[in-house]
Amino acid sequence: MKPAHYVGGAFLAPTGGTESAETFPLTSPVDGKERGQVPEATRETVDAAVAAARSALRGPWGSASPEERAATLRAVAEGIEARFEEFVDAEVADTGKPRELASTVDIPRAAGNFRAYADLLYGRAGDSYTTAVPGWSGGKGQALNYTVRRPLGVVAVISPWNLPLLLLTWKVAPALAAGNAVVAKPSEETPSTATLLAEVMHDAGVPEGAFNLVHGHGAGGAGEFLSSHPGVDAIAFTGATSTGSAIMRGAADHITPVSFELGGKNPALVFADADLEAAMEGTVRSAFTHSGQICLCTERVYVERSVFDRFVEGLGARARKLSGYGPMISAEHRDKVLSYYRLAKDEGATVVAGGGVPAFGDERDGGFYVEPTVLTGLPHDARPVREEIFGPVCHVAPFDTEEEAVALANDSRYGLAATVWTSDLSRAHRVAPRVETGIVWVNCWNLRDLRTPFGGVKASGIGREGGEHSLDFFSEPVNICVNI
Ligand code: NAD
Repeated sequence: MKPAHYVGGAFLAPTGGTESAETFPLTSPVDGKERGQVPEATRETVDAAVAAARSALRGPWGSASPEERAATLRAVAEGIEARFEEFVDAEVADTGKPRELASTVDIPRAAGNFRAYADLLYGRAGDSYTTAVPGWSGGKGQALNYTVRRPLGVVAVISPWNLPLLLLTWKVAPALAAGNAVVAKPSEETPSTATLLAEVMHDAGVPEGAFNLVHGHGAGGAGEFLSSHPGVDAIAFTGATSTGSAIMRGAADHITPVSFELGGKNPALVFADADLEAAMEGTVRSAFTHSGQICLCTERVYVERSVFDRFVEGLGARARKLSGYGPMISAEHRDKVLSYYRLAKDEGATVVAGGGVPAFGDERDGGFYVEPTVLTGLPHDARPVREEIFGPVCHVAPFDTEEEAVALANDSRYGLAATVWTSDLSRAHRVAPRVETGIVWVNCWNLRDLRTPFGGVKASGIGREGGEHSLDFFSEPVNICVNI
């Protein structure tokens, strides 16, 4: 399978031809070798995709009933499941992530996203009110108000490389469920499963133009052409906060609504009354899953002073034992993470575990690996404690009081997710609502129910995704008032 644009129900030739003549190399993060070429969408390709989406709204897709849309989404879910191994292979090849992660999280949840929104379509109820008609309005009776939801139109979906198919489908499924047409642009680092998804859409009989896919870079490329396009009615974006700012500036010209899932610098609070073994295990998962390249990963750990040394020792020992972890997505990202490792050492951090590049003695030595790293001893204003690193690293600092723990957690420009470890029920309920993040986990991490609101506060995003929240973003309520 070669990455290809999918526009108006047709795959554009991967190389040659006027549309896809420009390509760029795809590099394996596992060994640093080139794996193939990806087409770079021109402005004309993006224009064609937006036009195809617009015409789909005027065609069969625009008039499809909720039942027909739900059946289409189910067919897409089945199509992903029928080619499950191919999807897993493609995701592993693009990202280098452990196969187990791709086969238990990324691909099943991507199929699950289409099923969940097929089901949710039926749970929607509109508002309805009867209103007295005042004399000045010419009536004596009553008026009936009711609300219908209308799709927004052409939706741009721009997604990152860390959970390529999962995060793409997390937006595409509700956007289609709500009746929109989609133009999707996956990350330039991970084009493969998106292309497979286009094949599945094609085979599932999704009407032409309802789903379009363009590949390419962000700034100055396909991402920017798409997000600043006057024919786009809404933008759903997951990625870095700085990219969100750039997209928002382009969207401002056309007052295009945005839904943003952005960066984080997620805290974990470990109280002395917690089950410490569970807190250590949980923090190993929350800091090092997918080598820290999940927006929800913990990068700041605050531990009550009386158990601080024990916790650091236990976390460090577990981090040193980790094996089978994946690489950073690119040489550039590896260099960024390593620059934070160096900065932390320069600023006087104690390196409890890791801090460098592992040596495997095999092909992986040509890849983009860094060691799982645990740091202590940095001041709260040190850059490695304040800035999102997006690698397998956390800094652990002590606190003395609950008040101080909450203040430390909230002392960040970000506010995506937090984890609280305690066995005191009252404390859990007292602390959780005071932490300024969109998601708070108590004695767990990344436990997700697809119906719950997902998103961040502050620089971590705008709006909420998940369940009804996504369907709300991807549709517009229209109130109809009838004088009866
Ligand atoms: P990124 O912002 O560099 O890229 C994301 C997407 O945006 C890519 O498709 C890219 O091509 C595109 N893009 C880049 N610049 C653009 C521009 N100027 N205009 C339009 N499109 C543009 O992010 P990334 O490096 O792929 O992903 C890592 C980041 O994503 C981290 O900051 C992480 O926290 C964040 N993230 C957040 C969530 C969440 O749910 N909050 C989930 C996953 C990742």
